Amino acid sequence: MTGGAGFVGSHLCDRLLERGAHVVCLDNFSTGRRQNIEHLIGKPRFSLLLHDVVEPISIPIDVDEIYNLACPASPPAYAAEPIHTTMTSVVGALNLLELATEQNAKILQASTSEVYGDPEVSPQPESYRGHVDPTGPRACYDEGKRCAESLFFDHERVLGTRIKIARIFNTYGPRMSIDDGRVTSNLIVQALSGTDMTVYGDGSQTRSFCYVDETVEALIRLMATPDGVDGPVNIGNPDERTINDFAAIVRRMTGSQSQVIYRPLPVHDPRRRCPDIGEAVRLLDWIPNVGLEEGLARTISYFRAELVRMPAVQEV
Ligand code: NAD
Ligand code: UDP
Repeated sequence: MTGGAGFVGSHLCDRLLERGAHVVCLDNFSTGRRQNIEHLIGKPRFSLLLHDVVEPISIPIDVDEIYNLACPASPPAYAAEPIHTTMTSVVGALNLLELATEQNAKILQASTSEVYGDPEVSPQPESYRGHVDPTGPRACYDEGKRCAESLFFDHERVLGTRIKIARIFNTYGPRMSIDDGRVTSNLIVQALSGTDMTVYGDGSQTRSFCYVDETVEALIRLMATPDGVDGPVNIGNPDERTINDFAAIVRRMTGSQSQVIYRPLPVHDPRRRCPDIGEAVRLLDWIPNVGLEEGLARTISYFRAELVRMPAVQEV
């Protein structure tokens, strides 16, 4: 797996090991953390490889399945090094596709709802082709992931590579970094530390939040589908919320006295995001069951413990 030391990838490592798999976790630790996989180091079926997917994979690795998750996912993180973000998605995909093709392994791409850009239809079905500005500051992520999808399908058509594409919508849960910059981590950490809770824009934009265990389950089910089930398949929770509602829930659940303050909306921030999960239900027999409050309760407990562990973190 690539990106296995990250937020989603580390949960996926856990789940695959529980199922008896041997897992090679390949990561460059740019946004991932040793802490996320510390408990796995030394386990007999787990190995860690420090590597950047932009570089060719020259050492021999035997694999049956590749989950390609390597890529920073938080907007401030991917925009901090935009050229490397594009390279990670595009050259990284190419390197992994070559490995998969050589070994006749299945390869799953962690694509994203961001391929839909600022959508003109909602909910978004997989057939929607998106509304992305290739010149904007989010393009390194959106267009990088779009190009990766294109490379995956060309590899399937030209070389018969066994591909799967998951379009993941906003996923949250334990192991997000305190300073990750995404809305869930920012608002919870601010609420718990009593600092102002930052809502960007007027807070009327929407997102649909899926608890990490459920995203991981869907990825494993997609990998297990027969050859030819290539996707793309939307993976997300269709429970759509405004960011104002989300902030209010976090504030109430943490018992915080923080004020909600408004900050400028980032350029090209999508207005709406909600998955049509008909394909996931049909192909994977999967539907998310963890409600937002239940998932947030677990995530808030995790951040409470993180703040005790790292008390110096006051503001994000
Ligand atoms: P994350 O930033 O926590 O994890 C990404 C991991 O990839 C990190 O461990 C990082 O060190 C590693 N990485 C980044 N660039 C790399 C490179 N060039 N070479 C090797 N490793 C590299 O993000 P996440 O939330 O865990 O997301 C994982 C994947 O899922 C990403 O591909 C992301 O685009 C996709 N995704 C996530 C979400 C979400 O809401 N979490 C939504 C849509 C798609
Ligand atoms: N957002 C916010 N406050 C924050 C961080 C993000 O209001 O502190 C907004 C952001 O502008 C977007 C939404 O919350 O509209 C989700 O942002 P996130 O970065 O989590 O993910 P995105 O879906 O934009 O990739």
